Amino acid sequence: MSDPAPLIAVNPTAAPEPAALDALQDFVERHPRLFVLTGAGISTDSGIPGYRDDNGAWKRSPPITLQEFLGSESWRRRYWARSMIGWPTVGLAQPNGAHRALAQLDAAGRVGALVTQNVDGLHQRAGSRDVIELHGSIGLVHCLDCGAQYTRASLQPQLVARNPAVAGAFAEPAADGDAHLEFDGTNAFDIPACEACGGMLKPSVVFFGENVPRERVAAASAALDAADAVLVVGSSLMVYSGYRFCAWAQQRGKPVAAINLGKTRADPLLALKVAAPCAATLEALVARLAASNASSA
Ligand SMILES: [Zn+2]
Repeated sequence: MSDPAPLIAVNPTAAPEPAALDALQDFVERHPRLFVLTGAGISTDSGIPGYRDDNGAWKRSPPITLQEFLGSESWRRRYWARSMIGWPTVGLAQPNGAHRALAQLDAAGRVGALVTQNVDGLHQRAGSRDVIELHGSIGLVHCLDCGAQYTRASLQPQLVARNPAVAGAFAEPAADGDAHLEFDGTNAFDIPACEACGGMLKPSVVFFGENVPRERVAAASAALDAADAVLVVGSSLMVYSGYRFCAWAQQRGKPVAAINLGKTRADPLLALKVAAPCAATLEALVARLAASNASSA
């Protein structure tokens, strides 16, 4: 039988310092078109655990690389077994106050582009428009041979039906729908193939060791050009695919602010750092901006 799902710790809900909020409000009012860059830290309040601790170090074993996935049947079995266990957490996750606050900033015309390192789709579900998913979507799967696309949700019943023993095993969910699977039965894991051609299925996410598609980077770079400043939310920026936008912003003379509880790789180049929880900070920011608008109207 399966063990009960573990409790998932969320960020502390300590309110951000008023002085930090003053500075953040000022930053947003002086830069009317923001390039928003989000990472795993914005989705922890939705029950999707992050990869890294406050110092940017791995909390657990690093995720699978593209080379491992493509190179070994046993790695693929291990990946899909963990994915099957971790999927419900990601598939059922709901947007939190931080996603909703960013959607409100977007609706107020303050967001030029929202670029996310997350694959959970929660920004779109909260109502943000024109989201660029740098690392793809965990909600989709595609065939490496014929290119056919399937929803990840439609794959789940097939995975469970083929692997009832693994379905009952204990696991701790993780950021990409992967999981810590404390179960040694994955060698026999039965992976469904593409229904159209029998080819190999891969989640439509960018694995470690895999490049972000060039057109996606170009679209995000153009959005950065059109923006006045960068607002980083909930990312340690340890991965270059996200960090480069901060480096480019500095090169292009655009200031960068960050809301993140822990340190970030971009700390030395930040114009403003708010070390507070994403949701509490963004909700307070949206309330302040609305009050400021109302008083100046
Ligand atoms: Zn196929």
